[in-house]
Amino acid sequence: TPPAPPPWLEGLNPEQRQAVETTDGPLLVLSGAGTGKTRVLTTRLAYLLHQRLARPWEIMAVTFTNRAAREMRERVGELIGPPAEQLWLGTFHALGARLLRRHAELVDLKSNFTILDADDQLRLLKQLMQAANLDPKRSPPPALMGCIQRWKDRGLTPEAVPTSDRGAMDGFAHRLYGPYQERLKTLNTCDFGDLLLHCLTVFKSHPEEALQPYQQRLRYILVDEYQDTNVAQYLWLRLLAQGHRNLCCVGDDDQSIYSWRGAEVGNILRFEQDFPGANVIRLERNYRSTPRILAAASELIANNRDRLGKTLKSGHAPQSASQGDDDALGERLRVRAVWDGEEEARVVAEDLIAHQRDGGRLSDAAILVRTGAQTREFEERLMTTGLPYRVVGGPRFYERLEIRDAVAYLRLIAQADDDMAFERIVNKPRRGIGDATLKTLHQLARAGGLSLSAAATEVLGSDELKPRAAKALDGFLQQIAGWREVAAETPPGELMSRVLKESGLIDMWRADPDPQAPGRVDNLRELCTALEDFESLETFLEHVSLVMENEEAALGDRVTLMTLHGAKGLEFELVFLAGWEEELFPHRRALDQEGLKGLEEERRLAYVGLTRARRRVTISHAANRRLFSQWQSCLPSRFLDELPDAHVVREGAKGLSGGRAGSFGGGSGLGWDGPSWARPKPDRHIERPTPTPPATRPAAPDGEAAFSPGQRVFHDKFGYGTVTRAEGGKLDIQFEKGGAKKVMARFVVAA
Ligand code: ATP
Ligand code: MG
Repeated sequence: TPPAPPPWLEGLNPEQRQAVETTDGPLLVLSGAGTGKTRVLTTRLAYLLHQRLARPWEIMAVTFTNRAAREMRERVGELIGPPAEQLWLGTFHALGARLLRRHAELVDLKSNFTILDADDQLRLLKQLMQAANLDPKRSPPPALMGCIQRWKDRGLTPEAVPTSDRGAMDGFAHRLYGPYQERLKTLNTCDFGDLLLHCLTVFKSHPEEALQPYQQRLRYILVDEYQDTNVAQYLWLRLLAQGHRNLCCVGDDDQSIYSWRGAEVGNILRFEQDFPGANVIRLERNYRSTPRILAAASELIANNRDRLGKTLKSGHAPQSASQGDDDALGERLRVRAVWDGEEEARVVAEDLIAHQRDGGRLSDAAILVRTGAQTREFEERLMTTGLPYRVVGGPRFYERLEIRDAVAYLRLIAQADDDMAFERIVNKPRRGIGDATLKTLHQLARAGGLSLSAAATEVLGSDELKPRAAKALDGFLQQIAGWREVAAETPPGELMSRVLKESGLIDMWRADPDPQAPGRVDNLRELCTALEDFESLETFLEHVSLVMENEEAALGDRVTLMTLHGAKGLEFELVFLAGWEEELFPHRRALDQEGLKGLEEERRLAYVGLTRARRRVTISHAANRRLFSQWQSCLPSRFLDELPDAHVVREGAKGLSGGRAGSFGGGSGLGWDGPSWARPKPDRHIERPTPTPPATRPAAPDGEAAFSPGQRVFHDKFGYGTVTRAEGGKLDIQFEKGGAKKVMARFVVAA
């Protein structure tokens, strides 16, 4: 007999409890935000173990992020003690990789295969294009890669791509797909899409060996955020669940926000087809948000045509509460008009300080933005105000890879001796300056007490480097010198955009197929915008080093800063939704799409944002925004009009003076032409420190003193030879093998 039901089931409402206790057969829990789907899933997992319906290794639970997997493991631990390691709990990718390693040889891989990053993926594709004589201008590699990835998301191997799809990108995507897969196998590697695609292949080709054992073993399969699965993931689940048919998926079609990565809401409809007789349970009580927040979110999402539709009721408010009863309904949502991004950040910081003063914790608050680049202004303000924060889902702005690279260029321009910067960017983007060259530079620098830049200047004109590397290095130094020359007369923002363009840094990211790459391009543009606030390169660089120093421990009470996409599944007491303006949110890229698909996905994103809040929502929109270094007048987001007036207060920012607030309460801020009134532009022509002199050379360059014509010497690379001329630290040497060369005296010893 099974153990008595655990006391922790008492906390669930009847529908939730049903979802936990209906352990046999396929089950779909389809319901709105905050109705306890994730809680049901976690409880179900604990319940299965508690009732001894399955042993840990007979259960698989799939989460959307690694963080969610960790949380689920912890929660189950709280309910029934530390869950066994043997639980299969993780993301699709993690579980797919785990499975594939056991059967790698069936798809011609070794079990120690590596997983390719987006950079290498693209490089590989380019090599194949070159071999096939394909013009990367006519068929951009990132687009081809995207096409191949979408096929993988649909579970399609090269052979399985339907004829009707093969014509995509002039047929080139399909032509390259096969060779690309072959090449990956030769390299014993696979990309993220392969982690599931190869599993599917293995399941089909070797069912007895690689599928049936799992079908028998996995008694229960649980899936969170089901609305964001793609077809490959769906097929993978369906095959694994075929044995016991105990598949439980929870999701919300209104929160489907990853279609750009191949997710298909249609999977929800397929579920009921593929598992006839599946139980469908709808949870209607929301335990997270106040009735007002729920009403606003529901009214907004009702504007989407393409949805399954469902009702949401508040789980907290007494049912008798009348509409006018403000206490029971919670606070109204605040919609706040601000002048620009800087002000937006300032008033949010003020709110946070007030919240702290009232005894609130910063960790109860989140600032949610549409694009990663938007965090920058908030970060600056939080920092100057001394409010601790963390950026979730990515490093803080100035710690981002692409930003560090770009700043390294500026550092090297300002300071030729900055070796860290030199090393970081000398081959970024790739210009053929490899490890061998760097090693030579390091040796020379160490021997002569020089900076890398100085060593590089010296080594040119000798034969120490391969001609190709020398040419590349020369080009790099000249570029830096060129920028240094104009740095004093060029406003920092302008200098930065020039550097980004001329160095090829921005094109490098534009060509990258990684879904994060467009965000990196945006970040770089935002960096140019940030630079406009500084009068000189030096003041900016000082600012950055101060900001970077401000690093605290990851723990402690801090406000969360993240994108809407990253906030899925989370909840906070206070939520600030920033940048609700047309073109930014809904984003321009979504509006450019044909039909309503793009717009509706943006609206779902707005729904996700609103429903993260337990108690208070503050939405802001700026009248002017510097997008990509250009001031623009902004129209308030159409989503603001879709919020019910009964639950919203619209206000100007507290800090606005001179009645400006009223003038664009719901308007567009038009009539204010640009920022001319804003901060007066600082005078650009300030005095700069004299350019850094070249690194000091030792007083008596030992090279010249030590060698004289006619002397026999030995050189690391070129071997024995005789000095014919000694000048300026360089020696002309007639080598016994290899002829006449100019070398650095430092690399030579007397023979
Ligand atoms: P989302 O759609 O955003 O992922 P969800 O449906 O997964 O939301 P949960 O995160 O599981 O919802 O739950 C939302 C909040 O409601 C959590 O704080 C959870 O602890 C609480 N909650 C869920 N069920 C109950 C209940 N029966 N009684 C009290 N609180 C509950
Ligand atoms: Mg959830």
